[in-house]
Amino acid sequence: GTGKHCGKRDTPGVAISPRVKVLLPLPLAGAYDYRSSVPLSLKSGDFVAVPLNQRDMIGVVWDSSPEQDIVPVPDHRLRPVTATLPVPPMTPSLRRFIDWVAAYTLSPPGAVLRMAMSVPAALEPPTPQAGWILAGPGGNSQPRITPERARVLAVMRPGEPMAGARIAEAAKVSTGVLRGMAEAGLLRPALLPLASRFARPDPEHPGPALGPEQAAAASALSARAAARAFSVTLLTGVTGSGKTEVYLDAVAECLRQGRQALVLLPEIALSAQWLDRFRARFGVAPALWHSEVGGRTRRETWRAVAEGQAPVVVGARSALFLPFPDLGLIVVDEEHETAFKQEDGVVYHARDMAVVRARLAEAACVLVSATPSLETLTNAQTGRYHALHLPRRHGGATLPEVAMIDLREAPPERGRFLSPPLIAAVEAALGRGEQAMLFLNRRGYAPLTLCRHCGHRLRCPNCTAWLVEHRAQRRLQCHHCGHAESPPAECPECGSAHSLTAVGPGVERVQEEVASLWPEARRIVMASDTMPGPAAAAAAAQAIQDRAVDLIIGTQIVAKGWHFPHLTLVGVVDADLGLAGGDLRAAERTVQLLHQVAGRAGRAEAPGRVLLQSYSPEHPVMKALVSGDLDAFMAEEAAMRRPGHWPPFGRLAALIVSSEDEREADRTARDLGLAAPGGEGVQVLGPAPAPLALLRGRHRRRLLLKTRRDIAVQPLLREWLARVEVPNSVRVQVDVDPVAF
Ligand code: ADP
Ligand code: ZN
Ligand code: ZN
Repeated sequence: GTGKHCGKRDTPGVAISPRVKVLLPLPLAGAYDYRSSVPLSLKSGDFVAVPLNQRDMIGVVWDSSPEQDIVPVPDHRLRPVTATLPVPPMTPSLRRFIDWVAAYTLSPPGAVLRMAMSVPAALEPPTPQAGWILAGPGGNSQPRITPERARVLAVMRPGEPMAGARIAEAAKVSTGVLRGMAEAGLLRPALLPLASRFARPDPEHPGPALGPEQAAAASALSARAAARAFSVTLLTGVTGSGKTEVYLDAVAECLRQGRQALVLLPEIALSAQWLDRFRARFGVAPALWHSEVGGRTRRETWRAVAEGQAPVVVGARSALFLPFPDLGLIVVDEEHETAFKQEDGVVYHARDMAVVRARLAEAACVLVSATPSLETLTNAQTGRYHALHLPRRHGGATLPEVAMIDLREAPPERGRFLSPPLIAAVEAALGRGEQAMLFLNRRGYAPLTLCRHCGHRLRCPNCTAWLVEHRAQRRLQCHHCGHAESPPAECPECGSAHSLTAVGPGVERVQEEVASLWPEARRIVMASDTMPGPAAAAAAAQAIQDRAVDLIIGTQIVAKGWHFPHLTLVGVVDADLGLAGGDLRAAERTVQLLHQVAGRAGRAEAPGRVLLQSYSPEHPVMKALVSGDLDAFMAEEAAMRRPGHWPPFGRLAALIVSSEDEREADRTARDLGLAAPGGEGVQVLGPAPAPLALLRGRHRRRLLLKTRRDIAVQPLLREWLARVEVPNSVRVQVDVDPVAF
């Protein structure tokens, strides 16, 4: 046998050849062959249990592809599929999506499948704890009906699964009796119906009346959500213009069509305010999907999505891999966010993959941002994407006024970080009873600890990175590998006592300065380490809304989406921070981040003001922020990238070579350099040390493949990697469309 199937895939009940391909959620080269044993009639997409080595494993019956059949296992050596699972089969569109992502990112398909099965327990064959159903007549044996068994049969109704614990209680038997009845053929394990927590959002629930510009955008978007066809729309508009209400209208239209909607948010765990608005619009909460949704909720959500019982899912990037049977709309909010890029395992960009998922599902995709990425803007300008724009803030609120503070002319006091003009502005805002926010995108107390005596700097032993002091916890931490140690009493290099000095500010240090300036002011520090988890963030947001806080000191988590009506002043402590380093997108990203931060100010009646402290106020980034003309800035960015074929006007892929052995890393990187592809429109840069040349104890080198836009990088990468022998101790990670380099 060649392993070829006889057609008719996806037709329920049609048996196919006894040989089936099963993709397992493991980083293997392809699907494995199994034998479909007699009572099972398997079709592509079925979830099955199969033996692998000494255990059973859950996989998905996969469509066969000829190139995977090079060395077929002979029929007699095939092992049989153990069981099919009582969950809806994986749809063809999700299977194609998994194959597509695998091919695009050069990942093993099984590694991508694992993301779609991130809830293996949901797929385990039902256990007695899960539930039982009456087996009904059949079989030739005549099981003995003891009084206990009779009581069980009396409390159960045909066709209705019941939880084991509930049966045991109602029939006053032990769960062992139930297991015995299953062995005797009286009961079968069954999944229990889902709890009612996945209430249906009501599209007719009265939402806020839209302004005329919102209404126009909403009707255009709703038409696309109803079209049952693939489309991509960029929804832009100034911060506070009400983009959320507009796309929630499209979600409502999708629900009217009876299809499912997915909303991707970059920081789902921190979006309590967003959920409030969803509830206000639809009467109920949506289903949530992110890394902190665990255990039983995670399994039930997965199933509810698969069974079509979760009409709206709000999630992080991994929600793209949920088994929606009929996905009609995908919204990517804050589409420019780098949080949508997954850097470990399968390296993919959720914004780009959302477009692919929508295409394969014949769904509408909406990319939302006040500061869209150059990639998306370019696609809108060339007409590949539709574009909708909201030009004004909702409810007559005005955009904040942005001004620079030149730190060369108005320097802070020695060892301090707030300049006199910023201090005066905060003072004035507090005096008016308004809130102020100080933004610094740096956690901890100080980014660097230096010996005043010998100049030694405290470094992470595993990474090319300084240790960051977290004074409140009395720890020095590496923000890349998690290494932590107690601050040494004396310099580890020269042994001097009391010579170690904190250099530069983190939010903790700004909060210390604020405390000394305004001891009376009620302060809150919002950073991922001071506010771990959604509950803490929600409580903080509530306190700010309730005016229980005067001053907010925060890292980038304060930048996104929040609506704080009483906040009128935003001070950016170090506007130059993101511009250091040689990253192609440093300027674009700094504009996006600082514009978002600025957009937190003046969202209600009182006008907002934003002050940017900088040593280079003449930088184009600062000029763009002050003028507010981001279009002009992005046009300049485009003009700079176009001639050299830099993204989005060309394609880029990175190979990261890493090893604990520096010489091995160098040797493999050099071999890759020698075997590099070439030719018209193809260029390889490097090898060079990767941005973190040492990370978690591994030495890292990088090669960049840059091609013209009309050249696909995947075949070049595949052939390139095939030409070079990589020792076991060396890892080569492929990053197609790297976001940071
Ligand atoms: P954006 O996402 O464009 O920054 P939001 O969608 O957060 O803007 O809207 C800003 C504020 O205006 C929010 O508090 C929102 O609840 C409110 N808002 C937006 N549209 C309406 C509307 N049509 N009616 C009432 N309030 C609205
Ligand atoms: Zn020293
Ligand atoms: Zn480290």
